[in-house]
Amino acid sequence: MGFLTEDEIAALKPAPEAMFRSPVPTQVVASDEFSPIPQTPDQKRVEARIKDLADEIGAKQGLDRRRFLATASGMAAAFLAMNDVHGPLFGVTPAEAQQPDRAEARAAGLRDQFIMDVHTHFLREGTRLTGFVNMRQAVGRAGWNPALNPEEQSIQSLMYDNWFKEVFLDSDTKVALISGAPSDDERDWFLTNRMKFDARKRINDAAGTQRAMSHAIFTPGQPGWLEAVDRAIEELKPDSFKGYTIGDNTNKHLAQWPWRMDDEALMYPFYERLQRAGIVNVCVHKGLFPPQVEARFPRLLPHARVDDVGKAAKDWPGLNFVIYHSAYRFAGGGTAEQGLAQFEATGRVEWVSDLAEIPAKFGVTNVYGDLGQIFAQSTVVQPRLAAAMMGMLVKGLGASNVVWGTDAIWTGSPQWQIEALRRLEIPEDLQRRYGFEPLGPADGPVKTAIFGGNSARMYRYDARRAGLEDDGVVQARARYAAAGGERSNLAYGYVA
Ligand SMILES: [Zn+2]
Repeated sequence: MGFLTEDEIAALKPAPEAMFRSPVPTQVVASDEFSPIPQTPDQKRVEARIKDLADEIGAKQGLDRRRFLATASGMAAAFLAMNDVHGPLFGVTPAEAQQPDRAEARAAGLRDQFIMDVHTHFLREGTRLTGFVNMRQAVGRAGWNPALNPEEQSIQSLMYDNWFKEVFLDSDTKVALISGAPSDDERDWFLTNRMKFDARKRINDAAGTQRAMSHAIFTPGQPGWLEAVDRAIEELKPDSFKGYTIGDNTNKHLAQWPWRMDDEALMYPFYERLQRAGIVNVCVHKGLFPPQVEARFPRLLPHARVDDVGKAAKDWPGLNFVIYHSAYRFAGGGTAEQGLAQFEATGRVEWVSDLAEIPAKFGVTNVYGDLGQIFAQSTVVQPRLAAAMMGMLVKGLGASNVVWGTDAIWTGSPQWQIEALRRLEIPEDLQRRYGFEPLGPADGPVKTAIFGGNSARMYRYDARRAGLEDDGVVQARARYAAAGGERSNLAYGYVA
């Protein structure tokens, strides 16, 4: 049994697009909760500029707007448009937009880049969490991902098959970690720990390599939670553990068991167990708690912040504490405009700045930031905010302590996020004013570390990388291309 049958692959081919879709989104969509944000004046200008460039350059190449935007040159044109509106934040030349060969050569040159995504999701069969379907529809409407036809999104889009396609076939991702989320209502766990284990096994057995890794979720304070951890270690051998300090992010009104990372009585026996089992990475969901959510659930606010990270990290130097979403506050119902306004007024962004200051304050080197949602929610709508936050994280945590995660598949295939980080640079005025180092080229040391080098080190993955060059996934990609090639990342230059 492989990943997908030929029929399944054929069924996944997207239908022709019916509407204008930009290779990069010109509207933003919220995470976790469905609350699409209206287009801002800047985003309207980006969209208009993309259309102009597409008509102008596309005509010279004999392509209509839609066809042009579906090429690697079209992708380049979209980043040119963003630079025109927001300033020169993305590395892209007019030549890439004008000369298809150049754009395609660039995409091909980066295709083998080692990208380890430590933050991906799909949902169990029979899930009640249909809000994520609405989110994908909104992503499609916003032009976030050209293959996300809003009319086609269904509950099946959130299941394993489509996750596999969007992560492994439609993007340059090489290794993906299957994450999850708990709820106090058992029916609303994204996946049980056993389901994550089974999916990891299915993929790795078919690949013959370790393409998939898996979290086990831990739920501090709940009756029997430490016994569940012991069982998970023994039976499932997770690559790392993940927990939610607010207890229940999915059904916040139910959350009966919020906790603190530095609660010695509650948490230290757990850390002790992990250390003994040789599991060194502790992943913790933080942030995604904008003022709009705080107003409804004020009692959970202290748990969404990062006040409890420093002491835990200092007391457990043998563990790595990976803070998911880098504690970015303004997603999950908030807006990048809120984040940017706060940054312009104060030079800080809640709670990214607070996270970035922990190593200096506590003298620790074992605190990490994951980029799930923080990058997707800011880089297109307010790329200056994205650049500032990348600068903060790299400066405060170190380039060695920022890890690539995309929160795919809530926003479709992660390829557009990969392309955006490859091109993003911190503007010179921010570099000077805040002492941020440049992020550098797509394959330079900083981005190489973030995309996969750091996670490979943390998960002791390096020895397993060689096999990825010719395994079952490489063969599946070849079959997928042969089956039609009309795939989600048409926009990124995969199809000649
Ligand atoms: Zn997530």
